[in-house]
Amino acid sequence: MKEARVVIMGGGGVGKSALTVQFVRNVFVSTYDPTIEDTYRKMLSIDGQQCLVEILDTAGTEQFMALKELYIKSGQGFVLVFSLTHLASVNELGPLREQIVRIKDAKVPLVLVGNKSDLRSERQVPREIGTNLSKAWGNVPYYETSARKRVNVEEIFIDIVRQCRTYEQQA
Ligand code: GDP
Ligand code: MG
Repeated sequence: MKEARVVIMGGGGVGKSALTVQFVRNVFVSTYDPTIEDTYRKMLSIDGQQCLVEILDTAGTEQFMALKELYIKSGQGFVLVFSLTHLASVNELGPLREQIVRIKDAKVPLVLVGNKSDLRSERQVPREIGTNLSKAWGNVPYYETSARKRVNVEEIFIDIVRQCRTYEQQA
């Protein structure tokens, strides 16, 4: 696989842009326009193979459901993000995953991400909520990340690209 198209989704303010920019540019941006929707590219060498990773950083502002459907269709792998400091952000992901599974299929490459692990004292979501959700979704990988401290950032994108490869080989 030479290219992987990844879509990063989740509620507003959970850190989708911070994770994407930290991965692609190695910096933490603390003020990022929440309405900006953009595509980023980065070359990754995984298991000795080069891959161009294209990441669509969504903003959740799409006015038309059709637009959302369109980019779910165009994506090969999905990174679903909630914030460890905001319990309600977990609940946004269930309907999102259902929509993705409906448009793609149940084996669609996916990772579940709880972000902002550095904000220990503000944590609202215990690890078990993440691991239970991952089980409910058929054991999708679950990562706790910090875009700020660059913890597990590379890992989530490597994981999703690996899954995309496996998926493509099985197709
Ligand atoms: P998005 O709406 O999902 O794209 O969220 P952003 O990436 O714009 O992040 C929203 C806010 O959370 C910003 O103020 C970020 O600086 C902050 N943020 C994002 N990720 C982290 C993180 O890992 N740790 C901390 N402390 N703050 C974060
Ligand atoms: Mg954003």
